[in-house]
Amino acid sequence: MRTEGMHGDHAAAAMQPSRGVGVELLRVGWFTAPAGLLRAGAAMDEMIRFPVPAYLIETETERILVDTGLNPAAIADPGAYYGRPDIFALFGLEQELSVAEQVDVDTITRLVLTHMHWDHVGGLGLIPATVPVYVQRAEWDAAHEQTAIARNSFLQRDYAGGPREVVLLDGDCDLLGDGSVALISTPGHTPGHQSVRVGDLIIGADVATFAAGLDDHRFPLFADDHAAQLRSAERLAAMRDRGAHVLVGHDPEIIRPGILQPR
Ligand SMILES: [Zn+2]
Repeated sequence: MRTEGMHGDHAAAAMQPSRGVGVELLRVGWFTAPAGLLRAGAAMDEMIRFPVPAYLIETETERILVDTGLNPAAIADPGAYYGRPDIFALFGLEQELSVAEQVDVDTITRLVLTHMHWDHVGGLGLIPATVPVYVQRAEWDAAHEQTAIARNSFLQRDYAGGPREVVLLDGDCDLLGDGSVALISTPGHTPGHQSVRVGDLIIGADVATFAAGLDDHRFPLFADDHAAQLRSAERLAAMRDRGAHVLVGHDPEIIRPGILQPR
């Protein structure tokens, strides 16, 4: 495990197009859950089928995977797989293709985890252990501390595999050192949640489940810290208002597979 120097000033620098950097959205599963669980004030008896995204960022020399989707071994009976029937009484899972069936994982150079919920870290075991994992220290620590694990419903089975290289981050980070890909600290949904900026495209992950959540702050009922989540939503909303294209969470109207930005 190593710690990377922080480059907050670079990450916060004015947005500009990242030429030669491609971004593709992959759909790596679905979960079906009560609308009201994922959006405060919505009906608990209305079920919504939410897409689960991962993202592939390609430069001339890098293939960076952002998140890993659902664990294919858990789809059929997640309550039994994780030993948590309580959680999966609320979530039904589906997956057409795992991340490893959509990307040649042997070509991945780095893996960024936005956070360590099971719909983002479930495919971790499909990624070679030699691929360095970039995660916020606050998230990694919480995912290995019993009180925080319980509070955040982290499921350790997805990340309890053998040793792998983990790079722990303390805030904003200029991932490649050239300003092209920045990791942005956006805590609240979980303790060390982070977003990813590629030029004027921002992968907001679960700062909000629905795009409207950036403004109406109707977040999921569960969170590590709703006040911090609100500040993170305001941070991304401000970037959007300055011209960035912000993709969040699991909004079925927005999270659709395809090329977001050609290389
Ligand atoms: Zn999620």
